[in-house]
Amino acid sequence: MNSPLRLKGSTVLVTGASRGIGKAIAISLGSEGAEVVINYANSPSKAEEVVSQIKSSGGSAYSIQANISDESSVNDLIKTVLEKSGKIDVLVNNAGITRDGLLMRMKSEDWLSVIQLNLSGVFFCTKAVSRSMLKQKQGRIINITSVVGLIGNAGQANYAAAKSGVIGLTKSAAKEFASRGITVNAVAPGFIETDMTKNLNTDEIISNIPLGTLGKPEDIAGTVRFLAADPAAAYITGQVIQVDGGMVMS
Ligand code: NAP
Repeated sequence: MNSPLRLKGSTVLVTGASRGIGKAIAISLGSEGAEVVINYANSPSKAEEVVSQIKSSGGSAYSIQANISDESSVNDLIKTVLEKSGKIDVLVNNAGITRDGLLMRMKSEDWLSVIQLNLSGVFFCTKAVSRSMLKQKQGRIINITSVVGLIGNAGQANYAAAKSGVIGLTKSAAKEFASRGITVNAVAPGFIETDMTKNLNTDEIISNIPLGTLGKPEDIAGTVRFLAADPAAAYITGQVIQVDGGMVMS
């Protein structure tokens, strides 16, 4: 029997942790005593700010640049973390982009770039950590999907397809890894205040949210922290937890 996974002393990798939701997740898990690896693509100084913020509150963190759309870049990232930290206990697949447009006019490069990062990137990272997690017979994988992956959205066929794909990937990986003590879950945010949503017409969106406000990155971080914690979430796998102010009720 393996010892339970505690956040204190565990190593957590958060992709796309320089800004927005990933940043809030990194800070939250850092405050629980985890060593946090801050992945970023293009914002080294923002990533360093997150590292400093975690360290200044007594936590441990470092940053690594890697393009999650690119499998060899992901493999290098995982190799570096395993060399530096010796293990990865929690993987949070958070990095994501939007390239919105009506389907009829959507350029194939916008389709492909969203699928490549938001879906294939989750596959690359999950595959790359799986060997070490299977060996240590414990781990948590938490994928950030979206309610758009559940209900679709006009103008976001690429994004909705990728986020639906993440849900199928989450459930399949949960079934494959369960016997080895690894849980795989997804968190589906509604509309959260980040750079990704800053240009949207929020009045119209808010009118469809029963709780009457956009979410904050910390709302998502709280759910991720719960899914990463032991024993709280030890018996939960293959699930999609919506954090959307009640916007989508099924
Ligand atoms: P954001 O504020 O735009 O931040 C995106 C993060 O992803 C940044 O840290 C960025 O790093 C990183 N990133 C972008 N391209 C990358 C790449 N190729 N490789 C590695 N990292 C990359 O976005 P967010 O709103 O926090 O969204 C985070 C996740 O939540 C995404 O998966 C998104 O789809 C999902 N989500 C968001 C909302 C929402 O309302 N905001 C709702 C549902 C789901 P750099 O700073 O280096 O560019």
